[in-house]
Amino acid sequence: MIDRRHGFFNEKKETLSKEARDAYQRSKLSDILSHGYLHSKAIRSGFEKVGLRPEQIQELRDLEKLPITKKADLVNAQKEVPPFGGFEVVSEAGLRRIYVSPGPVYEPGEWDYDDIRWAQALYACGIRKGDIVLNTFNYHLTPLALMLDESLGLFKATVIPVGPGNISMQINLLRQLRVTAYVGTPSFLMAMIEAAEGLRLDLKRDLFLQTAFVGAEMFPESLRQKIESKLDVMVRQGYGTVDVGCLGYECPEKKGMHIPEDVIVEIVDTETGKQMEIGATGEIVATNFSKVFPMLRFATGDLSYLMEEPCACGRTSMRLGRILGRTDQVTKVFGIFVHPWQVDEVMAKFPMVSNYQMIVTRKDYRDEVTIYLELKEEIAEQTVLKRKLEKEIKENLKVTAEVVFTVKGGIPDRAKKIDDRRIWE
Ligand SMILES: [Zn+2]
Repeated sequence: MIDRRHGFFNEKKETLSKEARDAYQRSKLSDILSHGYLHSKAIRSGFEKVGLRPEQIQELRDLEKLPITKKADLVNAQKEVPPFGGFEVVSEAGLRRIYVSPGPVYEPGEWDYDDIRWAQALYACGIRKGDIVLNTFNYHLTPLALMLDESLGLFKATVIPVGPGNISMQINLLRQLRVTAYVGTPSFLMAMIEAAEGLRLDLKRDLFLQTAFVGAEMFPESLRQKIESKLDVMVRQGYGTVDVGCLGYECPEKKGMHIPEDVIVEIVDTETGKQMEIGATGEIVATNFSKVFPMLRFATGDLSYLMEEPCACGRTSMRLGRILGRTDQVTKVFGIFVHPWQVDEVMAKFPMVSNYQMIVTRKDYRDEVTIYLELKEEIAEQTVLKRKLEKEIKENLKVTAEVVFTVKGGIPDRAKKIDDRRIWE
């Protein structure tokens, strides 16, 4: 039996002491800052805007002094200075590829792909040398599928570069090529499972899958449990963006996502750009060490928090907690930010609630918040529950809300968790 639960892609890096990792990252940061300042027009202008030079950024904490780059900044910069917005550092060797991601964002691809972060992620997910891997991410235009393909090659796993779609063909491949590992979105894996069940296959006997690496989508724990129980596989997720690469990956312990050593991840206050304390929720901002397309403080738009307790797998890095949502899902009520995940957390304490929707309206220049609830079954003590919920919401969200019970199905499918219906005129 292959040991998929232990081992490291790069043991030395993944088990560094905190001091050694800080020193490693400080030195990589200092390299990329001076490299970017020298060769990338966009990075130099970022420094000039705040009146700094690279040597004035010494500690990871000093990064706060540099401006945040948002996706929209990158798209606008590329419109002004095509094709790469002045961020690129193109050597005489030219480029292996030019990627096109939604936005559109153009990205240079280097000749020698030597970023090990995705390889670390795939290895931690249990994929090993000799595995037959079905890569169902899209190979067209965007870099993710190709990066994962190259990364699997770094430890000699065999890739079937199939891309998404054509489920019945994919199910044939799973069987005929005795595929042992899946790489793709969790929803596509679930769609394949359902299709295979439709063909009356015995998933545990007729398929050979042992591990699955998923990403590029929210991955609820309930979906993981469903897939793991149907297939008898280990499903682990990686997290990153096309602009800055891999920012976190789960190990077999699945207690948060290990942050690879070759990237700096900050959790910042979305308003001020300042770093938040460990455990506090904020926006994920990343600085990569790419010599071709360096990104300093790139804002992902995703919300999470840092965890620093040791992990039983032996990797010593800090971890990202769950991805809690997008910064643009936030709503400001009574001057206070409310995220859907905060309401989710309150609701999780009330297992009798099956569905909810928070609706924000405005009357006589005052915000009004109503939370509509569907219950799993009728209960006798509705007034008691209503009071308890309103109290929890007030304590956790600092917002006064009225709870209203509605019939089963009263909240439309796919309704927004927080529906802001205020009209501003
Ligand atoms: Zn771990």
